[in-house]
Amino acid sequence: MLQITLTRHSQGKSSCYNAALLRGRTTLKETDMTFIVGDNCIKCKHTDCVEVCPVDCFYEGPNFLVIHPDECIDCALCEPECPVDAIFAEDEIPVGQEVFLELNAELADVWPNITAQKEAPADAEEWDGVENKLQYLER
Ligand code: SF4
Ligand code: SF4
Repeated sequence: MLQITLTRHSQGKSSCYNAALLRGRTTLKETDMTFIVGDNCIKCKHTDCVEVCPVDCFYEGPNFLVIHPDECIDCALCEPECPVDAIFAEDEIPVGQEVFLELNAELADVWPNITAQKEAPADAEEWDGVENKLQYLER
């Protein structure tokens, strides 16, 4: 079996080649770490992040995206792509957003997979930076 280690500590543009090899292999998981989507994605949802994920582990709800923790390979490619800085490594979740670790896992199990970018909500820019958007989360 092909063994490729792809972690955020070794990631970079050169990892894109290996990442492409992995596309579609959602069972590959070589790290216990995950990235999560946090509060500022709610009502922003630009979906830039899904285009770069080598294992297609984003899941989409009505106004929020989540990452499946069992599928995320900790490559960090998505983090800089988010225009509203809503993606965090599991060990770098901002204080007050800890609940999103559990929430990503819970919702990734029930929401559909998303693999292609789509248009952001018309009012996405107005919601960028608004605090405590969890109350607006639609399931
Ligand atoms: S790019 Fe950021 S705001 Fe857009 S869907 Fe992904 S996590 Fe949410
Ligand atoms: S969710 Fe982000 S960190 Fe996790 S595998 Fe996809 S691109 Fe990499």
